[in-house]
Amino acid sequence: MQRQSPQVVTVLGSTGSIGVSTLDVLARHPQRYTIYALTARERIAELAQQCRQYNPRFAVVAGEEGADQLRSMLGEGVSTEVLWGLEGLCQVASANEVDVVMAAIVGAAGLRPTLAAVEAGKKVLLANKEALVMAGPVFLQALRAGGAQLLPIDSEHNAIFQCLPQPFGSLEGAGVEKILLTGSGGPFRTRLAGDLHRVTPEEACAHPNWSMGRKISVDSATMMNKGLEFIEACYLFSASPEQIEVVVHPQSIVHSMVQYRDGSLLAQMGNPDMRTPIAHALAFPTRIDAGVPALDLIAQGRLDFEAPNYQRFPCLRLAREAMNAGGSAPTVLNAANEVAVEAFLQGRLAFTSIAAAIEKVMNSTPTVELTGLDVVEAIDLNARELAQQAVGAL
Ligand code: NAD
Ligand code: MG
Repeated sequence: MQRQSPQVVTVLGSTGSIGVSTLDVLARHPQRYTIYALTARERIAELAQQCRQYNPRFAVVAGEEGADQLRSMLGEGVSTEVLWGLEGLCQVASANEVDVVMAAIVGAAGLRPTLAAVEAGKKVLLANKEALVMAGPVFLQALRAGGAQLLPIDSEHNAIFQCLPQPFGSLEGAGVEKILLTGSGGPFRTRLAGDLHRVTPEEACAHPNWSMGRKISVDSATMMNKGLEFIEACYLFSASPEQIEVVVHPQSIVHSMVQYRDGSLLAQMGNPDMRTPIAHALAFPTRIDAGVPALDLIAQGRLDFEAPNYQRFPCLRLAREAMNAGGSAPTVLNAANEVAVEAFLQGRLAFTSIAAAIEKVMNSTPTVELTGLDVVEAIDLNARELAQQAVGAL
């Protein structure tokens, strides 16, 4: 086998659920990958442990205080240089030495560092769906201009990617009729609708199939996650809203499907373990070991599919409406959702009021065209202020 020099990787959000899974895959292939930078906002002790284990050139934290804390934890023995703030994140996402950037910060906070990687023409592994949802056209424009390669990490989009011919031009050109976006339906799929107003953050974060960060766990419980993924799929695959259908599949074994003109329906399947899409995207177009056991279909026994319940999960409807409206509507949806989810996690908002707060903000915000990053950020900020007011009033 031909020996190549290792690919140099930055992991944005290395202490999170995706970050830790990424490090697990990278550590299985030390000849293929070296780590340039690790970043985290909190859990500094865990970041220090990661620095000792992987010896990255840089570690980035949110503030100066965290940087001091990390430096003193690392002591003399570790050569990792500690940076902080948005500037530090953008620097390690776009540095010349870096080949691959895993974008695994949660929420809008990941937009600028992810864009920095895109603009620098990196191979960008996109877990941070909020960045694409909030900035859609601006993000895609940067992608075209920077010549970056974008590979989806979200298991559904990674599955769709795997079911499409590569290189991919258009759905029409590929003979695709429809994308079937699957979702488990979350922990409350069968819960009595009348009980939903009193569910707790702990119940909402206990996903039946996936272990994830708290924000995306709540999104899965409201099915806003599927809504964000619906928008993400429209942008990633240049699909119209009519070309994407949400299918509830409680076992999370089929990660999504592509329906072709000739009647073929291609699915990507596997155990629900994010290391599979991470390994796929890291090594694409080759395949590497991900540490994930092969799917045992006989032990699994059955796969169920059902239509989503838009009454029970209004967030799914709101996301569809936002994509239909286009322009800044997904930006507003995403910002209001982030504020509402945070309020729910802090016990300031009932579970069923998450959708109500988002809808209120959407109804009071006119839709405009997203002409640049400054417009995206202004709309995001305004929607957050309106969402705080809506949360306070509910
Ligand atoms: P998480 O909460 O477990 O981790 C988030 C990471 O981002 C942490 O390292 C945290 O320190 C960092 N971070 C958070 N806020 C930050 C800020 N303001 N500035 C800088 N860093 C910050 O989240 P996760 O579950 O790993 O999800 C990460 C992203 O991947 C999300 O966008 C999520 O939607 C997406 N995703 C996750 C999964 C999953 O299985 N966990 C699956 C698909 C997509
Ligand atoms: Mg997903």
